Amino acid sequence: MPARAQNPISVVTGGAGFLGSHLTDRLLAEGHCVIAIDNLITGNTANIGHLAGDANYRFIEHNVSDFIFLPEEKIDYVFHFASPASPIDYLELPIPTLKVGALGTHNALGLAKAKTAAFILASTSEVYGDPLVHPQKEDYWGNVNPIGPRGVYDEAKRFAEAMTMAYHRYHRIDTKIVRIFNTYGPRMRLRDGRVVPAFIGQALSGQPLSVFGDGSQTRSFCYVSDLIDGIFKLAVSDFHEPVNLGNPREMTIKQFADEIIRLTGTRATIEFKPLPVDDPKVRQPDISRAKGILDWEPRVRFEEGIKKTIEYFRESLAAPR
Ligand code: NAD
Ligand code: UDP
Repeated sequence: MPARAQNPISVVTGGAGFLGSHLTDRLLAEGHCVIAIDNLITGNTANIGHLAGDANYRFIEHNVSDFIFLPEEKIDYVFHFASPASPIDYLELPIPTLKVGALGTHNALGLAKAKTAAFILASTSEVYGDPLVHPQKEDYWGNVNPIGPRGVYDEAKRFAEAMTMAYHRYHRIDTKIVRIFNTYGPRMRLRDGRVVPAFIGQALSGQPLSVFGDGSQTRSFCYVSDLIDGIFKLAVSDFHEPVNLGNPREMTIKQFADEIIRLTGTRATIEFKPLPVDDPKVRQPDISRAKGILDWEPRVRFEEGIKKTIEYFRESLAAPR
């Protein structure tokens, strides 16, 4: 394990987002000082409101696709999490998505190099595209349509991985790459279009659940606390190749809709809608690398995580606007 400071300083780009804010909470709990940088393009200050006044926390509103200046002489970790992440977000923001994956990653790596920090890239299972290998292992190179609508996200992340490995090999930066599979939990935006908030929001307001295609496509859902645990373990490891983090429990989207109907007790029905272009047909992480290297595997059972998430959205819907 590389020697790092007792009270490390961590930068979290995308720190006002769903994952960035949970990661920040964990880092603060581990004794880190956290500098969060976010331009709020898809993030929300409500995710970080509880941190106001914390002496170990600083928030900077900034677009990391532009040069990042920080006066600190030494920073210990740079977690690069800034990027639109939901398909409807990156379809609406194709160029900012490409820029933050490319220019933003370059700037964040430059910051890590200047401050001798370790660098952790939030990559994605989308680097595997519509996979022809199942479940997906890290040595699979993927099946991505570079010019399709999802290409702006997939190719930006693939470029980000290539840039990260180049900084590792050429500049000897201590880099890590986490390939995150579908993760859910409190602080997702109700209307970010991802299937977990979409179905729960619809179920709680009595609207039909919008299943795309025939619902036979699969996903594997990981609860946020499990993911953050894996990211923390990876950050303090000395492993530099990509690591899949996700929950291997796979289900079809139709099964997922049925579970949400059952667990919310809604009378809502299912409405089938057209399948988006290039929507991956299957997705399931092979986590043997994370198990072997990080001694990590998810612990939160599906029903437990989903119930917590349903409660979060129930409260958000009841809260005065
Ligand atoms: P999110 O949209 O909630 O958070 C992303 C944050 O990045 C937002 O706060 C947004 O405002 C910020 N951001 C975007 N562009 C920026 C820029 N140019 N400068 C500064 N800030 C910027 O999404 P999330 O689910 O928390 O995803 C976080 C990271 O994890 C992303 O990089 C995403 O690709 C990756 N990821 C997430 C999942 C998942 O299931 N949640 C899966 C795979 C990968
Ligand atoms: N999906 C759906 N209804 C919705 C939103 C998504 O059926 O309202 C499907 C989508 O087509 C995909 C899966 O759910 O097959 C997961 O979609 P999400 O946007 O959460 O993330 P993805 O895994 O595609 O990046």
